[in-house]
Amino acid sequence: MTAQLVSRMRGFGTTIFAEITALALETGAVNLGQGFPDTDGPTGMLDRARQAIREGLNQYPPGPGLPVLRDAVAAHRVGRYGLQYDPASEVLITVGATEAISATMLALCEAGDEVVVFEPFYDSYAAAIALAGGVRRPVTLRPVGPGGRFTFDPAQLRAAVTARTRLLLLNSPHNPTGTVLTREELAQVAQVCQEHDLIAITDEVYEHVTYDGADHIPLATFPGMRSRTVSISSAGKTFSATGWKIGWVCAPAELVQAVTTVKQFLTFTASGPFQAAVAYALGSELGWVEQSRISLQQRRDLLADGLAAVGLAVHRPAGTYFINADVRSIGVTDGTAFARALPREAGVAAIPTAVFYDDADAGRPYVRFAFCKRPDVLAEGVDRLVSYAARSSFGSWR
Ligand code: PMP
Ligand code: GLN
Repeated sequence: MTAQLVSRMRGFGTTIFAEITALALETGAVNLGQGFPDTDGPTGMLDRARQAIREGLNQYPPGPGLPVLRDAVAAHRVGRYGLQYDPASEVLITVGATEAISATMLALCEAGDEVVVFEPFYDSYAAAIALAGGVRRPVTLRPVGPGGRFTFDPAQLRAAVTARTRLLLLNSPHNPTGTVLTREELAQVAQVCQEHDLIAITDEVYEHVTYDGADHIPLATFPGMRSRTVSISSAGKTFSATGWKIGWVCAPAELVQAVTTVKQFLTFTASGPFQAAVAYALGSELGWVEQSRISLQQRRDLLADGLAAVGLAVHRPAGTYFINADVRSIGVTDGTAFARALPREAGVAAIPTAVFYDDADAGRPYVRFAFCKRPDVLAEGVDRLVSYAARSSFGSWR
């Protein structure tokens, strides 16, 4: 760690995704760590990006985003959830959800303000809060029984809010636990936001990635919440284009204006041709998205069954790309040591989720496996785990 790094960023080091992907490359492991698909999104969308480049859409798009994309985002939001946003003043296009989260935090969090966040939290949340000089107030998601879904204790949520709390950052469908919060749970969150006059920031990047009939319900649809919610999403997961980094914010004009003020000095704007292609996809490729969802559910089952077959206790997710496995079921206590050794030992890479917790004890036993990979890749990963388990009985970490 360089001595020149500002104190508020010390301790962040290299992201776990970069670390594990590098380890997977070095060891030739099947990479079930970083959550990116290994197949492309809809062909029509890819063609539209090529066409946009040929047509010369290669200079700065407008700061708030191409009008055609803002229109498409607003149409999607109203069509799918009945939430109306004015594309001219209430929609902002960002460089992925990551920029949307950081810009929103920098715009709305005063140094010393507290931010309630559910842990395990996506790693950029902690960094964005730290950059803004905010203070994390974590609420821990825990499994309901062995192999159960992860959820929060409403009393812990209430206890996390103090007079200094200004923001609540929510992610559902949730990375890395795979939980899709229910209407009842969301109603509790909404009530806390209103009682304490909090602004909610919702990370909905997996809005289309839900299984077994689980429904994604935006927090902004709850009574009284639209006016106090900054809703964030992204094309990366919806259209299997994580490298395009097209995200967006939908919120009341005053909040969008605040976020825009920061965003214009982070990147100003980006990726005109990809914006045009995502606008097309939001309007014309939701059928592809549904097919992809069905295929992901099958791949979830393929990997979950494979992990269970080697004795791992699996928390089968209702959404996202990820399965959490509890390594205590194979006699291992430290999921982080396990995940760091697995690529070399077994030829499979996964993410230790303890890094997403402030409460290290709560996260210690969990390892996250991504199933947004081709079935043959998942099968190869499972085969390697099966043969490793047969040869070692997972003996080295006990
Ligand atoms: N939030 C969550 C929960 C994520 O899993 C990711 C990774 N896709 C992001 C935000 C970042 O999204 P983007 O790639 O659009 O910046
Ligand atoms: N969202 C992806 C995941 O959770 C990783 C994104 C990244 O590499 N920063 O795996």
